[in-house]
Amino acid sequence: MKKEYDVLIVGSGAAGLYAALQFPENVSVLMISKRELTLSNSSLAQGGVAAVLDKSNDNFKLHIADTLIAGKYKNNLNAIEVLVSEGPDDVLRLKEMGVAFDLDNDGKLQMTLEAGHSRHRIVHHKDSTGRAIVDVLIDQVRTHKNIDIYDNTMLYKLEKNDRGFYAGVLLPDGKSQVVAVHYCIMASGGIGRVYPYTTNSAIATGDGITLAYMLGAKIKNLSLIQFHPTAFAAEKDRERFLISEAVRGEGAVLLNCDGERFAFKYDERGELAPRDVVSNAIMLESQAKGNEKFYLDITHKDPEFVKQRFPMIYEKCLEEEIDITKEWIPVFPCQHYLMGGIDVDLYARTTVDRLYAAGECSHTGVHGANRLASNSLLEALVFSRRAANDICSRLEKENNSSFGEFKEHDDLAGNKLPHGYRTEIRQIMQDCHFVIPKPENVPEGLKHAKEILHDIISGGYEVNQDFVEARSLATVACIVLEEVSEKNGSE
Ligand SMILES: Cc1cc2nc3c(=O)[nH]c(=O)nc-3n(C[C@H](O)[C@H](O)[C@H](O)COP(=O)(O)OP(=O)(O)OC[C@H]3O[C@@H](n4cnc5c(N)ncnc54)[C@H](O)[C@@H]3O)c2cc1C
Repeated sequence: MKKEYDVLIVGSGAAGLYAALQFPENVSVLMISKRELTLSNSSLAQGGVAAVLDKSNDNFKLHIADTLIAGKYKNNLNAIEVLVSEGPDDVLRLKEMGVAFDLDNDGKLQMTLEAGHSRHRIVHHKDSTGRAIVDVLIDQVRTHKNIDIYDNTMLYKLEKNDRGFYAGVLLPDGKSQVVAVHYCIMASGGIGRVYPYTTNSAIATGDGITLAYMLGAKIKNLSLIQFHPTAFAAEKDRERFLISEAVRGEGAVLLNCDGERFAFKYDERGELAPRDVVSNAIMLESQAKGNEKFYLDITHKDPEFVKQRFPMIYEKCLEEEIDITKEWIPVFPCQHYLMGGIDVDLYARTTVDRLYAAGECSHTGVHGANRLASNSLLEALVFSRRAANDICSRLEKENNSSFGEFKEHDDLAGNKLPHGYRTEIRQIMQDCHFVIPKPENVPEGLKHAKEILHDIISGGYEVNQDFVEARSLATVACIVLEEVSEKNGSE
């Protein structure tokens, strides 16, 4: 690792990788990823990427309207216009780079339908689109000599100075290294691990949001959290496997504990209503029945079609001893996506000079109160490209000299963080702010989360991965619950 770089990119998901590819050879880029490069929410994306690519049957206005309806008109219209109008070119660029999106019999991109979309506009690679994209992007990034890639390397501090930042990273051996960078793109993903059950990967602990917050960046709408209605209901793992929306798009129906369809009781769009509506319907039906058992049924479809269209879901469910061509799939809502985040403008600039944010850790305003399926990979691509381009144009005008001497290592020693804080934080979030929020629990939950955060920050603990993640989870919980309690107070 060099001592100085032009740009630090935190994260190797779709946002981080795509940003890295935009920089020309004369811009030095350090890309870090706290675990292996492929461990990210991007790699888990199943359904696909939404884009208006078939103008004979679709147009920007329809995609904008669908995004607004799902987002309950709380979206930033300018940001959606950028997303929808620029996104198709980014998707085509992925195809040119070699992402094997599924094609129809005429060799054209195959588009599927997902909940909330009025047209077939989701391009996909079977049911593992994210991994197909990430693999190609990693291969591409590796061919760029100006990009230094470090996996198992975790950002634990970001200090501002007048030329940029001092970034403290934990190396794989647990030692500290401080690097000086002129710009930083936070592409560090979501916050799923602040809940007991989530579809998110283990990296989703809100580190980037926390570090940006500690620098004074504006954080917006962190309480806007999406719960996916149909995660595989296994108790044993924190990470719940997602049964993609596309399964309902292809005709699967939701059943309650008595095997009855119920979604139409709560919304005329039935199973194809947006996620929040379907999650809500499940929770209300669960209260009505006093039972948390729910199922997705796709057994009426041709088994060969199901296996062909959803090979990964089919295999994963088989591992759990469910043959989805013959049996119902047990499902229940869990945390899935964060709509809010580090507030950014249309060029992904945060309120801190030289700090950018893109992808799930950012708040562009595109999603409003609820994300439309398959808009998030698109957002990660469009706004990470914009961040990189903005940085490039600034770098061209600047004459950045060396940072000179600075302290290159921190002393990270201290006591070990006590066990249990993460579990407590997760329970607080589940009790206060799950699918149907419980405002009456928020004051006590917030008080408890603040006490935990105070101890983590002031306890003199060793700075290691466990410490950084616990600090992030506690910070995220406090920001979310503060926001909720302000909203409750103003109602
Ligand atoms: C199961 C599942 C299915 C989904 N399906 C779809 C879909 O079909 N279509 C769609 O559009 N969206 C989908 N999404 C959402 C979408 O995948 C994510 O919103 C998007 O990929 C986020 O990309 P990202 O680059 O912002 O973050 P991620 O892909 O999560 O990457 C975050 C990166 O940041 C790194 N990082 C985090 N903290 C640190 C730190 N402290 N130091 C160093 N590195 C750090 C991580 O190691 C990782 O490399 C899905 C999400 C899930 C969980």
